[in-house]
Amino acid sequence: MSAVVSGFLGTQVTFHLGALAGKSRILDARSIGERIALLLERTSFHPVDPRWPDQPADKGTLTVLSRVFPVEECCIYALHRASGELKEVKAVAKQERADYVEVVAHLVDPKGAQDADFIGAEVQADVDPVLRAQLSLQHSASHLAAFALNVATREFWSKTPSRVDTLGNPNFDHLAMSTSFIYPDHCEDVYRFGKSVKKEGLDVNRLFNNIEQVQSTVNQLLKEWIMTGTPVELIAKGPALSDQRVWRCALPKGMAEMPCGGTHVASLRAFSEIAYRLAIQENGGEKTLHASAIAIPS
Ligand SMILES: [Zn+2]
Repeated sequence: MSAVVSGFLGTQVTFHLGALAGKSRILDARSIGERIALLLERTSFHPVDPRWPDQPADKGTLTVLSRVFPVEECCIYALHRASGELKEVKAVAKQERADYVEVVAHLVDPKGAQDADFIGAEVQADVDPVLRAQLSLQHSASHLAAFALNVATREFWSKTPSRVDTLGNPNFDHLAMSTSFIYPDHCEDVYRFGKSVKKEGLDVNRLFNNIEQVQSTVNQLLKEWIMTGTPVELIAKGPALSDQRVWRCALPKGMAEMPCGGTHVASLRAFSEIAYRLAIQENGGEKTLHASAIAIPS
């Protein structure tokens, strides 16, 4: 039986506030293969979300039992409220979700220590600040580029689609996005154009014929927006990992907002440049649009 099941709402997180370090208590420890998953009451580590793994996990260390344990992997897991069963978050069926809470699992090599040695111990969490800053910069660039892309593609919609962004533009980024990945030195988004997005009114041929214009509009907007130096905020509904967080940035034409589970820069002053590129790729007769943004820190 787990030590954490009664009234536990899941791991409390601080990464969205920009925290890199913090002290906590280890609530539970579970062996997973050769490694051990340490569940902390509260953590500064950003975990990867296997359901939408856009931003990779933080790296860093946990100092506990007078030893330093490098965090080899940091991932969202699901913990059963009643039985304490720890399950991969993707393995939880929709109808079972209410029975589980989400936790940050810090996977370490236990170096001979047992699960029981860790439970209840005080722990110091330290995130690698360099990697965090790199991922935050590229992740913020990815959101800015999404809003700029929505502006640059608005003329290719024949009607207002079901999703409109907070600046009032058809949400191309949301409706056509297939994958999104953040790397330490750039980010990549792939857009696909199935029947549903065409039904929503997107003229895909016109878009493909005007890629250079779209790219140039996005780059121009990014340049203008960076110059404002406006703050970037993550507004959380609560302290738990599963509480919704919203990315927010006041752009010249309005407040840009979108749900986001990642980490970000504190303001647009963090950028000296964002270089945005679009390319059409064809695979088995299907054309996709590949976007990449390289953000350079100031
Ligand atoms: Zn995000």
